Amino acid sequence: MEDVEQVRQGWREKAREVAKNVVAPRAAEIDETGEFAWDLAEAYSKYGFLSLLIPKEYGGMDADITSFCLVTEEIANICASSALLVIVQAVGTMPVVLGGANELKEKVLPRLAKEKGLICFCLTEPEAGSDAASVRTKAILTGDHYVIKGRKCFITNGGVADFYTVFATTQPGKKTEGITGFVIEKGTPGLSIGKTEEKLGIRGSNTTEVILEDVKVPVAQRIGDEGAGWWQMMRTLNRSRPAIGAQAVGLAQGALDYVVRFVQGKGWAKGKEDSLGVQWMLADMAVEIEAARALVYKAANMMDEKMKGTPVQMFSAMSKYFASDVAMKVTTHAVQILQWEGLTKNHPVERMMRDAKVIQIFEGTNQIQRMVVAHTLLKSK
Ligand SMILES: Cc1cc2nc3c(=O)[nH]c(=O)nc-3n(C[C@H](O)[C@H](O)[C@H](O)COP(=O)(O)OP(=O)(O)OC[C@H]3O[C@@H](n4cnc5c(N)ncnc54)[C@H](O)[C@@H]3O)c2cc1C
Repeated sequence: MEDVEQVRQGWREKAREVAKNVVAPRAAEIDETGEFAWDLAEAYSKYGFLSLLIPKEYGGMDADITSFCLVTEEIANICASSALLVIVQAVGTMPVVLGGANELKEKVLPRLAKEKGLICFCLTEPEAGSDAASVRTKAILTGDHYVIKGRKCFITNGGVADFYTVFATTQPGKKTEGITGFVIEKGTPGLSIGKTEEKLGIRGSNTTEVILEDVKVPVAQRIGDEGAGWWQMMRTLNRSRPAIGAQAVGLAQGALDYVVRFVQGKGWAKGKEDSLGVQWMLADMAVEIEAARALVYKAANMMDEKMKGTPVQMFSAMSKYFASDVAMKVTTHAVQILQWEGLTKNHPVERMMRDAKVIQIFEGTNQIQRMVVAHTLLKSK
């Protein structure tokens, strides 16, 4: 049997190769046009990056969370929005893997794993972002199907997905206990795409509104029991937040690598690169990236080892917010050192700085992650 570390190393090397040969030549253009990169989706699919967390029996890669983070980090080292495609596919898939009946898994997972299908995760609504328990999208059981009505916003892959993992309330007023997940197929009458967002960063990722107008969804497309949605969402986010942290670490490392090469090659008059001001900035950037990386892989390891009794949700939240705050700080310092060059539109580090800002916001803002950490601390004995 192959050693688990060798398997992880294999994923890292594969991702590094794809990042260098496939992503790097496209990164600037993807950012500039803001268009979805179908060629990257095709390549990721070929290499198994879009079925990382899908079990082998459904044609997936059955990778662990550490490998998921390694793949994300390597791609984000070149382009963070291209790494988000790997993450969102896992986020959309996880509720089905964790809570779906076999019939639903057989309908959805092989299409994602073997037929290049894409999926998205539809939770956020105009009135329910951080307060996710307040979702207003309703799913009413009518005979052998549900009728779903509501409006989702800021949905990654909303305009390109084949499947939509949608969270709705089946018991309005019951908050978390009333939330239920469903999988809706593209083309189902009543499902349509609204506005496509023009974003500051992570521009290569498709982000849209998803409109649900009396969409008829068979009971067989409900994910697990009624009211199990909150549990599925939380378990999904525990697994994906370390990957968002890894995305931030990869991005920050990319910015630091660029700036180190810049300072080395600059030939500034003696004084600037020798000055403690620049050197200490570089040192702080390197230290903070390593600290963030350690936290990310600690959280990933907790998930992989299924460490009972450990507050995985706290470490998962810590890794997401610490790493993305580090990415913001590192890219800001990097632009400072690069001066006018770093402010130039389409400069890779300028792109990284804009992308870092977005990572502080999605998948639960960094304020909300701090609340998760504080609540866990205050609940512990
Ligand atoms: C690029 C991008 C992609 C996204 N992709 C998806 C996706 O695929 N699926 C999906 O469902 N969602 C997605 N989102 C939505 C994202 O998860 C939400 O934007 C995020 O959870 C915040 O919700 P909100 O925008 O409604 O802000 P709000 O919840 O309205 O928050 C506004 C501000 O108030 C702060 N705040 C709110 N409540 C508190 C509190 N109790 N204490 C302290 N501060 C608080 C927040 O931190 C934030 O700064 C995406 C967002 C972006 C930007």
